[in-house]
Amino acid sequence: MTVIAKPDYLLRDDVQKFIDRPKKLFINGQWHDSIKGETLEVYDPAVGTKICTVAAGDAEDVDRAVAAARHAFDEGPWSKLNPSERGRLVWRLADLLEEHADEFAQIDALDNGKPVTDARAVDVAFSIELLRYMAGWSNKIYGETIPLTNPADFHAYTLREPVGVVGQIVPWNFPLMMAVWKVAPALAAGCTVILKPAEQTPLSALRLAELTEEAGFPPGVFNVITGFGETAGAAIAAHDNIDKVAFTGSTEVGRLIAHAASGNLKKVSLELGGKSPVIVFGDSDIEQAVAGASSAIFYNNGQTCTAGSRLYVHRKVYDKVVEGIASEASALPIGHGLDPATRIGPLISAEQRDRVTGYIAQGREAGAEVIVGGDTVGDGGYFIQPTILTKTDPSMSVVREEIFGPVLCAMAFDEDTIDSVVREANNSVYGLAASIYTRDISVAHRVAKRLKAGTIGINTHHVVDVALPFGGFKQSGYGRDMGRDAIDQYTEVKSIGIAL
Ligand code: NAD
Repeated sequence: MTVIAKPDYLLRDDVQKFIDRPKKLFINGQWHDSIKGETLEVYDPAVGTKICTVAAGDAEDVDRAVAAARHAFDEGPWSKLNPSERGRLVWRLADLLEEHADEFAQIDALDNGKPVTDARAVDVAFSIELLRYMAGWSNKIYGETIPLTNPADFHAYTLREPVGVVGQIVPWNFPLMMAVWKVAPALAAGCTVILKPAEQTPLSALRLAELTEEAGFPPGVFNVITGFGETAGAAIAAHDNIDKVAFTGSTEVGRLIAHAASGNLKKVSLELGGKSPVIVFGDSDIEQAVAGASSAIFYNNGQTCTAGSRLYVHRKVYDKVVEGIASEASALPIGHGLDPATRIGPLISAEQRDRVTGYIAQGREAGAEVIVGGDTVGDGGYFIQPTILTKTDPSMSVVREEIFGPVLCAMAFDEDTIDSVVREANNSVYGLAASIYTRDISVAHRVAKRLKAGTIGINTHHVVDVALPFGGFKQSGYGRDMGRDAIDQYTEVKSIGIAL
């Protein structure tokens, strides 16, 4: 069933009121127009019409935000607050987010196009959980006592201190959740933050800033600069008074950020793109593999960094698995994100739709066969059908490059040894995630060990939890979000030695 809801849906009152409020930069606990008075327009990708206008900050606005964040960090009050009080504020932010959960779900569904049901059950729920998890770390960050070998009559210990002022640049695919992945550990660790959401989806970050005011965060601790990557983002990456930049986005922009950050050698963590393999062995539970592989690629319309976009299936079950995924793909209801029945919303923009259809055309030209989907849907928004390409091979751009859309490349493997499929799965510049479907526990663990990726699922694909480190091998980036590893990334280790 394909239904594109008409744009005469009813927005919640609180969302409508939020949209009607002016959208400014949040600096030092106050709302400011950009110094140059620049703005950007935000669109509903399901219908292509404007939602509202938002301030577009640039280098001068970033300077202002850095001065505020620097002051809150260097002079206090943030650095002087006891860690338990810091944790209470982060927890309070989680409580407020929970109170406004349905409102945030609608904001992201409207701004990004994603199904409101997913936004509520995943993006918002995960963000609440992560804030609480990180709040718990606030007063459990400490160093160690270390016995020295030379000289032995020293007492030595380490301290773990917040890294300082942190710039955080996030993408549009999970607008609230990507922001909270960055903000929660940074605030819990005692850093001050300048957040730049993606220009396509700035709304939930601005609403989050309102909640930080309500929660009682001191001015300057959390700042939001909405604006474009080439101006506001680039200014954050290059700023001499920022101690760390944390980025989630494309590998291409990640490279620019690492380069820009080299001026003052600020710390850098990068969560970048992926082209994740899903491997289905001949002995797997076919129903489980079909459901897993289908959600691996079609969840969030394939606009997921961990999307399982390369499918390797043992030839003896290939037809069954591919037919199963194809039948799931054609049954997914396409529609406006605000319609609770929607499973597939629009892509984020016309540019993204053209990019995805361009890849499908390249695949066809190179000899791939489209067995389901392949076309755009309707003409108002940026919809595209969930698509499966067969007869693909590793020389094709559709197999090598991140498409960031609902496009699966299916390939069969024959060998009884696991070597060839592991080699193919690892044949990528990316290494973010992978999954393995088998009933053989020994094959599962042997393959998991040999795959070069930051997160591996066994009989499941998207393995993401607030307590589990998440990040990439190879050109999928460096550094880890979530878990204790995230706290480590927002702290510096200081060694202290005392001559006894
Ligand atoms: P993008 O790289 O185009 O943009 C991400 C952010 O960077 C935006 O806020 C943008 O304004 C900013 N930016 C753009 N140019 C910049 C510059 N020169 N300097 C500083 N900032 C700049 O990515 P996108 O299209 O928004 O998101 C999709 C990408 O994000 C995909 O490649 C996806 O795989 C990746 N992603 C990775 C993860 C992960 O955890 N590894 C998670 C989600 C998305």
